[in-house]
Amino acid sequence: MRRLRRTKIVATLGPASSDRRAIASLFEAGADVFRVNMSHTTHARMRELVAAIRELETEYGRPIGILLDLQGPKLRLGSFAHNPATLAKGNTFTLDTDPTPGDAKRVHLPHPEIFAAIEPGHTLLLDDGKVRLVAVEADSHHILTRVEVGGKLSDRKGVSLPDTTVPFSALTEKDRSDLEAGLDTGIDWVALSFIQRPDDIAEAKKITRGRAAVMAKIEKPQAVNRLGEIMDLADALMVARGDLGVEMPLEKVPGVQKQMTRAARRAGKPVVVATQMLESMITSPVPTRAEVSDVATAIFEGADAIMLSAESAAGQYPVEAVATMNRIAEEVERDPTYLAIIHAQRTEPEATGADAIAAAARQIAETLELSAIICWTSSGSTGWRVARERPKSPIVAISPRLSTGRRLSLIWGVHCIVAEDAHDLDDMVERACRLAWKDGFAQVGQRVIIVAGVPLGTPGATNMLRIAFVAAEAARDAG
Ligand code: PEP
Repeated sequence: MRRLRRTKIVATLGPASSDRRAIASLFEAGADVFRVNMSHTTHARMRELVAAIRELETEYGRPIGILLDLQGPKLRLGSFAHNPATLAKGNTFTLDTDPTPGDAKRVHLPHPEIFAAIEPGHTLLLDDGKVRLVAVEADSHHILTRVEVGGKLSDRKGVSLPDTTVPFSALTEKDRSDLEAGLDTGIDWVALSFIQRPDDIAEAKKITRGRAAVMAKIEKPQAVNRLGEIMDLADALMVARGDLGVEMPLEKVPGVQKQMTRAARRAGKPVVVATQMLESMITSPVPTRAEVSDVATAIFEGADAIMLSAESAAGQYPVEAVATMNRIAEEVERDPTYLAIIHAQRTEPEATGADAIAAAARQIAETLELSAIICWTSSGSTGWRVARERPKSPIVAISPRLSTGRRLSLIWGVHCIVAEDAHDLDDMVERACRLAWKDGFAQVGQRVIIVAGVPLGTPGATNMLRIAFVAAEAARDAG
């Protein structure tokens, strides 16, 4: 089953897409990776979803990625004696360590670590930024604030601290337990929410130990400020525009998205653009013009993947939302300006054998108009480095490891085939041509370029390029 686009689609699962048939419909409509949001999913449900996806994978004979999104340290207020409490602009309001129900003058903040970290002048955003407070003074039990933007508050509303580096790690006890359960179930990617610093990634990697790749969700200004260091450690980035748009002025988010997609492409790490991409499709079968434009912008930026959240998880039109993204991606990638725009951001290869070969493969494929770049890849790294080049020709990655195929399902332009390693050079060439023909990437009489590390199965040893002709025998043997 061949997709006719390079940009991948991540679809979040939820009540609107929870059984095998619904997930199959999303896959057929174009979803490449399924996201399980642990803010709303129990371990038992997560296991059922993973099992359903794995059954589909067997049925379709194509690796499918699973992204486990951890809730992270979401801060919340305590409760109020009478809901809702109304805070008036200009009044003072105190957050404290007293667990008794609050009122319009004070409320409990059940996170004692925060008190020492807040400084006068820091902003506190409550309920997705609807209420804005500024700290006037703080000690170990109280934060006295002035209400800058008033409004109604009810129990357990969220608290965002855009100016404060909070002194705890991105992994809560719940996250650790969700992550262990996910790893036991065989997820491929884990997304870390509300990270602030590179150490947060290092901490998660100590737990994953290579069993899943780690994606850093960038949704706090503190993480934007340390993007380079975070990207050095993370395997991928997500532009988590939902919380980013709460924690920083909304008008800054498009610029941050551009910075992140560029930085990730430079590093050759996948980047996912997320949140409100087709928001109106939660209740409408057609998107707005602005949403179509927003999705197209991410595709023109060369993002690896675009993501649906509530549209596929809880909306009325989950399949239509995936199909709409699929159509936008196919159309944008056919646009005559597309390749020139994404190539304007291409950066020089790094001084490694893998990058030099990846850049050469793209150049040769373009010059000779080859029909595909075929990578033999064990860990997937050759496929990632070729994808960094954003070549015009499709990338076919052949790996003996199913886990590699599943991770590669997120990467721009890569179609992965799981097949046993080649025995020798002739076998490598013959089978590459046969598999590319079989999956519709090359016709008899066309040429492809094959990239590999010899001896095969040695990670990081990309050192071989070979132009091959797809002979009639390839089709006969495959058929
Ligand atoms: C976001 O904030 O954009 C995001 C993807 O995170 P979540 O949906 O988990 O809030």
